[in-house]
Amino acid sequence: MKSLLWTPFLLSLALATAIPRDAKVDYNGYKVLRIELPKDVVGVEAQINDLAAHILNPGKGKQLDVVVSPDNIDSITELAVNSTIIADDIGEAFAEEGEFASYAVPSETWFTAYHSYNDHLQFLRDLQGGFAGQSEIITAGTSVQGRALTGIHIWGSGGKGSKPAVLFHGTVHAREWISTMAVEYMAWQLLTKYSTDASVKAVVDKFDFYIMPVVNPDGFVYSQTTDRLWRKNRQTVSSSSCVGRDINRNWPYKWEVPGGASTNPCSETFKGLAPGDAPENKGLVAQVNQLRDLRGIRLYLDIHSYGQYILWPYGYNCNLQPENAAAHRSLASAAASAISAVSGTRYTIGPACSTLYATTGDSTDYTDVTGQATYSYTYELRDTGRYGFSLPASQIQATVRETWAGVLSMLRSA
Ligand SMILES: [Zn+2]
Repeated sequence: MKSLLWTPFLLSLALATAIPRDAKVDYNGYKVLRIELPKDVVGVEAQINDLAAHILNPGKGKQLDVVVSPDNIDSITELAVNSTIIADDIGEAFAEEGEFASYAVPSETWFTAYHSYNDHLQFLRDLQGGFAGQSEIITAGTSVQGRALTGIHIWGSGGKGSKPAVLFHGTVHAREWISTMAVEYMAWQLLTKYSTDASVKAVVDKFDFYIMPVVNPDGFVYSQTTDRLWRKNRQTVSSSSCVGRDINRNWPYKWEVPGGASTNPCSETFKGLAPGDAPENKGLVAQVNQLRDLRGIRLYLDIHSYGQYILWPYGYNCNLQPENAAAHRSLASAAASAISAVSGTRYTIGPACSTLYATTGDSTDYTDVTGQATYSYTYELRDTGRYGFSLPASQIQATVRETWAGVLSMLRSA
């Protein structure tokens, strides 16, 4: 009889310990602070790292945007030289992102809402199915949890695989949801406007496009089910209970250089234990190398948010730029003008390290040097911090349209 009494009790104990680990993080009442760190005070960054729920722009920038629970706001404010509140209640901002739409028809209305990961896969299948003669679904390896990194290959009148490659990567960082939408919009424009828009036809006939809207599927799913502000992949290390490698600090070029990534598994910019040791990076590295060897890579874009930047190599060294830095600047400058002409949105352009902050093991350094891409850029889309990652659904369409104008201008000159 005793066991009958004890069993439910033990069961409820087990449930009580199991639930919090998977419970969705409630960000109601959390604020986003923009803080300036004191110079030369040892340990402040580590303390901020402990106190903040998330650092939104990790790196050695002039200022940090941090998400802070109501309990820790005073402690963080005391550590900072300056602090301003840039979002009063980030839980409320997430509500403004709107509900997921459940349809999956590739019309422009797709770009008025955010979507689940499975619906993004369906979008690609539906789009490809509508233009089966000039596109196919492609994959580039698998994630930690076994999801295929899925994209679409688009070609024009020259036939499949006959032209230099243009490669777009999106949603490297899980929480940057606007990136998924912007990259999908590029594929949608190229296919649906091919027969009616001469400038689109010209670029589709000039290149083979390899378009990957979500290269961090595990992190993206986790950002939808559990923690809206998740950034990294979902890989574990035996030495720590913290999860995730930063896929954009794990590429095997200048990975070992200090100062542009973290060796701490709990950091938002954890570089991993060895260059290219994230499964997602293995797949993406193979993809880049394969395109390099096939017809060469003319243009590589890694689409992130937020900050409104167009950046070119290098991330690992603030005094170095590619041989064709002037051409990089010229294309970026034209793209920024094209964006501004659509909507007035202003972008800052420049080489990554000196314009934003140092990054090592990043995608554009790898594609520039090892991938031998003619042009490599990181886009940081809207906004500059008002909404940050939680850009409202009402801004998706304007953002993807202006981004497309910038990208099309690059494609025409590349
Ligand atoms: Zn990012």
